[in-house]
Amino acid sequence: MEKRELVIIGAGPAGLTAAIYGRRSGLDVLILEKGIPGGQINTTDEIENWPGVQHASGQELGDMFRKHAEKFKPEFRDSEVQGIEIKDGKKIVITDKGSIEAAAVLLATGASFRKQGCPGEAEFTGRGVSYCAVCDGAFFEDQEVAVIGGGNTAVEEGVYLTQFASKVYIIHRRDSFRADKIAVERALGDPKVQPIWDSVVEEIRGTEMVETLLLKNVKTGELSELPVSGVFVFIGNEPNVGFLKPLIDSGVLKTARGGWIKVNDRMETSIEGVFAAGDLIEKYLRQVVTATGDGATAAMAAYAYISEQVHLEGKLLEPEEVSAVFYSSVDQAQVRLAGEIEAVPQWNRVVLVDGYKNSRMAEKLQVQSLPCALKIKKGTVTKRLEISSATDLQGL
Ligand code: NAP
Repeated sequence: MEKRELVIIGAGPAGLTAAIYGRRSGLDVLILEKGIPGGQINTTDEIENWPGVQHASGQELGDMFRKHAEKFKPEFRDSEVQGIEIKDGKKIVITDKGSIEAAAVLLATGASFRKQGCPGEAEFTGRGVSYCAVCDGAFFEDQEVAVIGGGNTAVEEGVYLTQFASKVYIIHRRDSFRADKIAVERALGDPKVQPIWDSVVEEIRGTEMVETLLLKNVKTGELSELPVSGVFVFIGNEPNVGFLKPLIDSGVLKTARGGWIKVNDRMETSIEGVFAAGDLIEKYLRQVVTATGDGATAAMAAYAYISEQVHLEGKLLEPEEVSAVFYSSVDQAQVRLAGEIEAVPQWNRVVLVDGYKNSRMAEKLQVQSLPCALKIKKGTVTKRLEISSATDLQGL
C-alpha cells in the first residue's frame, strides 16, 4: 500500500496553507482534492477582508494560494476520498484511486451550502434554484429574483445580484437580518433590494424553470405567491463530512451539534494522528483568514506528531532497553541540564527528548513532570527518576 507522511484532504485555504507549512517543515505532503483547488472561495465574488489585499475575487485569491503552495512542491492528486479506516492505530485513506497509509491525516474538506428542503428545491436546482450568485447571477439579467436567508452571505450576495437582476427580494424568517451592520445598511439602501420579513418559502413552483415561490408569513400564517425567475438559497453551511460517517456514527470521531468536527487548540481531532482545519471544525468564525490559521496550526501539530511517531517510537519503544531523559525546551535550567548530559561521554546513549514539544510521547510514558529520566524495556517503563543534574543519572 502507498505510504505517505501527511495526507491533506481538501485544497481550500486551510488545506493549501497546511501544505505550505508541512512542506516547509520537510514533510512529504499529498493533497487530495476532488474539485477545483481553492475551495468555497471560488464561489465568492469579492473578498475584502483578507489582510494585505484590499480587494480580490475569491477565484483570484484561491489561485494565489494554490500557486504559493505549488512553490513548495507538495503532490496534488485529483481523487475523491471515500472514507478513512483506523486499524491498529494505522490511518488508511480510501480513495477512488486506491488506499494510502498516512502517518497523519488532515481533514480540510470545508463546508457546503445548507439546503432549504422545501418542495421544488431539488427539482429546480440548476433551473432557477442556485447556491452561488457569482456562478449564476448573470443568467438573471433584468429579471426578478429572490434570496433566502438573513446572514452575511444572503445580504451581500443579494446586493451583488442587483448588478444583473431588476429586483432582488430577500426573504428572511425574522424581522431583522443577522448580517453585519455595514452589509445590512448597504442592502437596505439599495433601491433594487426589497426585504420580505417574517417569511419562509413553502414551495418553489414552475414548469420548466422556476416561476413562483409560495411564501408563508410565520406571524400571521398568511400564504402568498411571489413571481420570480430565480431563487438563491443562502441559509448557512454544513460540514462536508459525508465520507467520515462511519467514524462519526461510531463515536470515534467526535463532532459537535450540526456535525462540526471537534478539535483542540492544536487542531487534533479525537483520533490520534487525525487533524482537522478550516470550515468543517466547530468554531466561532468561518472565514478564509481563520481557515488559513487553522491549516498552519494543524500542519505544525502534524509535524510534531509525525516526528514523535517516526523518530521517537523507533528510539524509545522498540529497543530491548533504553535510557531517556525528558526535559523542557522552554525552561533554561532544563536546557542546560540536557546540554550537560549530552557533554558527558558516559551518557551519550541516553536519548534526550523535549517533553514540552513531544507531549504525546511524554503522556504515553506517563511522565508527570519535567525533567524526568526513564529506563524503558521494549516499550515498558521499568524505572523513573526525578533528576536535577547529570550525575543523578547514576541512579537509573
Ligand atoms: P449564517 O450567518 O449562519 O446565516 C444563515 C441565515 O439563514 C440566518 O439568517 C438564518 O436565519 C437563515 N436560515 C437558516 N436556516 C434556515 C431555514 N431552514 N430557512 C430559512 N432561513 C434559514 O450563514 P451565512 O450567511 O452563510 O454565513 C456563514 C458565516 O460566514 C457567518 O459567520 C458569516 O458572518 C460569515 N460570512 C462573512 C462574510 C464577510 O465577512 N464578508 C460574508 C459571508 C459570510 P436566523 O437569522 O433566523 O437564524
